[in-house]
Amino acid sequence: MSHSYGEIALVTGASRGIGAATARQLAAQGYVVCVNYQARKDAALAVVQSIADAGGRAFAVQADISQEEEVLQLFASIDDVGLPLTRLVNNAGILFKQSKLVDMTADRINRVLLANVTGSLLCAREAVKRMARSNGGKGGSIVNVSSGASRLGSPNEYVDYAASKGAVDTFTIGLSKEVAGEGIRVNGVRPGLIHTDIHADGGEPNRIDRLQDKIPMQRGGRPDEVAASICFLLSDASSFTTGSIIDVSGGI
Ligand code: NAP
Repeated sequence: MSHSYGEIALVTGASRGIGAATARQLAAQGYVVCVNYQARKDAALAVVQSIADAGGRAFAVQADISQEEEVLQLFASIDDVGLPLTRLVNNAGILFKQSKLVDMTADRINRVLLANVTGSLLCAREAVKRMARSNGGKGGSIVNVSSGASRLGSPNEYVDYAASKGAVDTFTIGLSKEVAGEGIRVNGVRPGLIHTDIHADGGEPNRIDRLQDKIPMQRGGRPDEVAASICFLLSDASSFTTGSIIDVSGGI
């Protein structure tokens, strides 16, 4: 897809997991990829290096997307590159240790909502400013990474996280209608159980082993399988699709 040379794709939370796989696939398609990360600089630089080794172009930018000032600095770093931003993947997301709502503090709930909802909204806001045709932009495409949790609710594990992903689904639909006339498409993917580090953050690294019998396809997914659906929704192959959400969950 040579059309993407000279355009920037931002992937938030691209140092590991689904974000890293997405960054690699976008770089292979010719995008100059901004690999955002929060804390793990070494992991982010390893993703950038693997992209360079494969002949692609990428750069890493540290920013906590839950903090507005840091989001503004992230986008300022992208502006400094001097190429148009035409793709955003709102991938960064967090969850905390499995527990029932009765044991959750306000601090925990707010941290989840800040990162998963406010952070994604702020990144989308800054991307829309730059992509909007009425603002001199080239148009573009945004993919929000939600979760099957938004459909299933994650009882006894993290209803706070599930609720945050419900908000992501809803703003995907609303924003898609708001910016369609600006040449910007907004879609979502809802991963199911995917082999990444996030399950260890929930206190159960082997969570997929426990649950995979309940998945119709009888296995967990790979980050690159989610990345492929993200890249489809970002690409012109889905040029008449906006406000849609693809489940990438093996049938659950
Ligand atoms: P992961 O392996 O835990 O990686 C999380 C990534 O997000 C890391 O790159 C991390 O950066 C970054 N990050 C976390 N908080 C951030 C913040 N405030 N600002 C910027 N970056 C931040 O996660 P994953 O499993 O790939 O999940 C990616 C997305 O898919 C999330 O939105 C998650 O909710 C969703 N999802 C995952 C699954 C699954 O089964 N894995 C299922 C459904 C949905 P550092 O490396 O610097 O810490």
